[in-house]
Amino acid sequence: MKLVTFDLSGELRLGALIDGSKVVDLNLADARIPRDLNEFVSGGPTSLELARNIITAGDFTPLSLEEVKLKAPFPRPLRNIMCVGKNYYDHANEFGGSGYDASSSQLIPDHPPIFTKASTTVIADWEPIPAYLDPTDTVDYEGELTVVIGKGGRGIRRDEAYNHVFGYTIINDVTARDLQQRHKQWFIGKNIDGFCPMGPCVVTADEVGNITTCTLQTKVNGELRQNAAVKDLIFDIPYLIECLSEGMTLEAGDLIATGTPAGVGIGFEPPVFLKSGDVIEISVDRIGTLTNVVA
Ligand code: MG
Repeated sequence: MKLVTFDLSGELRLGALIDGSKVVDLNLADARIPRDLNEFVSGGPTSLELARNIITAGDFTPLSLEEVKLKAPFPRPLRNIMCVGKNYYDHANEFGGSGYDASSSQLIPDHPPIFTKASTTVIADWEPIPAYLDPTDTVDYEGELTVVIGKGGRGIRRDEAYNHVFGYTIINDVTARDLQQRHKQWFIGKNIDGFCPMGPCVVTADEVGNITTCTLQTKVNGELRQNAAVKDLIFDIPYLIECLSEGMTLEAGDLIATGTPAGVGIGFEPPVFLKSGDVIEISVDRIGTLTNVVA
């Protein structure tokens, strides 16, 4: 199932995306379904069963995507989005060679560098990226597959990890490169308002199937910049869940952005930063395409 959060006449509602372009208002169909995706995910199999029953019964009049305003699936995640710094070999090399990595002299890390993006950075599919807020004018994109935790827990073993995955979405880990470089720690360069486009939907794990067969692609103004197989992650999804949950309890609705592949703007010589009007499209098979224009 593809789940979306949408705005209908100023009210946030939860929907199911069907046939690629139609939205079923799940809250209208069954008042027991929460309007907030965090609550829906916390509800576990019960939430999903209620939603599936609606789709199976077919007793609804779907809205068209033009009639609603899509929000990010989690407009305000419960806590910061956990992000992996270097998780594709080619990108680790590209980043290390760019001069913008002030965090480490080690090209390929032994353990995944983890940072977070504040929940306040999230914007929706097609919402403009406010690049003008970066005082250093060095804004770059990073297309990333993102894991949504369903069942929380601590000490989750890697062979159990996929049982804790609710589904997947896409984020653009937009980054102010000079700030990232200047401040050594990445937080400030990654946390400008609006620097986390997310969506367009969350796809449940059963609908995605084997995530390692998926490919992530990023286009800027139609030009293919990033193209990588999820199976090429240095630290795979089960490892990331095991590692993050070793001493910290993961909770339903937690988001783990798995890192970006090669092909970002600082991989060019000289670097190519985003400018007003640029269109960034990030696609993952069976999930969809996240599109944003630079304001
Ligand atoms: Mg990133």
